[in-house]
Amino acid sequence: MPPTPDRLATLRAWDKAHLWHPFTPQADWAAADPLVVERGEGVYLFDIDGNKYLDGTGSLWCNVHGHRHPALDAAIRSQLDKLAHSTLLGLTHEPAILLARRLAELAPAGLSRVFFSADGASAVEAALKMALQYWHQRPDPQPGRRRFVALGNAYHGDTVGAVSLGDIGRFHAIFSPLLFDALRAPSPYCYRCPLGLQRPGCEIACLGELEKILADHAGEVIAVIVEPIVQGAGGMIAMPEGYLRGVRELTRKYDTLMIADEVAVGFGKTGTLFAVEQENVLPDILCLAKGLTGGYLPMSATLATEEIYSAFFATAAEGGTFQHGHTYGGNPLSAAVALASLRVFEEERTLQTMVPKVEALRGRLEGLWTHPHVGDVRQRGLIAGIELVADKTTKTPFDAASTVGARVCRAARARGVIVRPLGDIVVLMPPLAIDESQIHALIDAVEYGISEVCDPK
Ligand code: PMP
Repeated sequence: MPPTPDRLATLRAWDKAHLWHPFTPQADWAAADPLVVERGEGVYLFDIDGNKYLDGTGSLWCNVHGHRHPALDAAIRSQLDKLAHSTLLGLTHEPAILLARRLAELAPAGLSRVFFSADGASAVEAALKMALQYWHQRPDPQPGRRRFVALGNAYHGDTVGAVSLGDIGRFHAIFSPLLFDALRAPSPYCYRCPLGLQRPGCEIACLGELEKILADHAGEVIAVIVEPIVQGAGGMIAMPEGYLRGVRELTRKYDTLMIADEVAVGFGKTGTLFAVEQENVLPDILCLAKGLTGGYLPMSATLATEEIYSAFFATAAEGGTFQHGHTYGGNPLSAAVALASLRVFEEERTLQTMVPKVEALRGRLEGLWTHPHVGDVRQRGLIAGIELVADKTTKTPFDAASTVGARVCRAARARGVIVRPLGDIVVLMPPLAIDESQIHALIDAVEYGISEVCDPK
C-alpha cells in the first residue's frame, strides 16, 4: 500500500470497486468519501489520517468495554497461542465449556443449556427450530404448533426465518415470497400507539391484543418472540414498564413458549446484564450475540431451559437430535474473549459504575425535548433513540426523501462523533465504558447535528 494520503485514496477506490456494504445504497456510497477506520482505543475510533471519533453506536451495538481493552486483547492472544478453531461437532474444548457454564450461572436461573452460533440471526434461527422441534418431541407432543407470534416493528435478523418474524417494511417486504406467515401483535410503541391510546391511561392495552391472538390460536402457537425492553431496529422503541412481564404471564396462561431476543440489548446495555432481568422474566429461550464477546468477535448463543433440552435428550437410535449447527459455533477465540468480557463486568463493576452514566445521559436527553423537531426521546440504560419529526404537535414525520436522520448523523460526525440513524431516529448505544464527559461530548455533537439540519437558517 502507498503511504497516506495516497493510501486513503487507494483504499477508497478499491472499496468502491469491490466491497458490497450491508444495508447501504451503493450508488450513494460510491459518491461519498467513506471514513476508513484504522484503529480503536477505548470509546474512540481513529481513521487512517489519525482523526478521532467517539463510537456513539458501539460499532453497531456491540462494543461494551471499549476498543483495545487490555484484558480482552490478552484473552485473544493467549487463546491464539493454543488454538484458533476446532469444532463442537463430535469434539469439545475448554473455552466453549467454560463459557457455557458461565452463561448458565449468570443468566436467569433455569436457562442452563447453551447452543453456540456465530451471529445474532443464527441464534434466532436456532431458537425457532428448537422451539418447533420441542413441541414435536415433548412427552405429550403437540405437532399442531406451527406458528410464531411476533410484534409489529420487530427485527430479529436477516436470515429468512428471522426476516419472517420481522416487521420492517423497507427491510423485509421484498422477501415476502420466501417467508412464513407470523401472527402479528401490536408493537408497544407508545409515541405512535398502534391502538391510538395514550400512556399511562391505556393500561398497556396492546397486551390485550396479544392475548386475543393467543386465545384465537390456542394450541397452534410455537412461541411468542420479543426483543425485551427495547425494540431495536424498529426504532429504539422502549416498552412501557410491565409489558415484558405481561408477555411472560400471557405465554404461561396460554401454555406457549417465550423467546427473548436480546441480541441488541443484552450485556448491560439496559442496566442489567440481561434485559429480561429488568422485569424479572425467565424466558424459555434466550438469544444473545453482539455484546457477548464485548463486541470483539462474532459469536452468538441460544440458551434454553432444561425442559426444552430434555425433549432432545435421546440416543441416535431413538432420534430427536437437534439437526442444526454452524461451522464456527463456539469458536475458541470468540469464547475466550467472551469469558474475558464477563470477567471485566465483575472486575470493573461495569453495571454499578454505569448508574451515574445513565443518569448523566438522562439529564442531557431531557434537554433535547424542547427542540421543535424532537418528537420523542426514549432511553433505557445507555440505549437511546431520538425521534425527529417535521411537526411536533401532529407527530408528522419528515418526508423520507429528505433523509433528515442521516444528515443529522453526518453533521455530528463533523464534531467527532459517529452515530447512525434508523430513519429519522438518531440512535445512541455507546460502549458501557463511556465516561460522563464523553456522554456530554456525544450529546453536544448530536444537538449540533439536529440544529444544523433542522433549525431554520
Ligand atoms: N436480533 C436483534 C434484536 C437485532 O437487533 C439483531 C441485529 N441488529 C439481530 C437479531 C441480528 O444479529 P446479527 O446482525 O448479528 O445477525
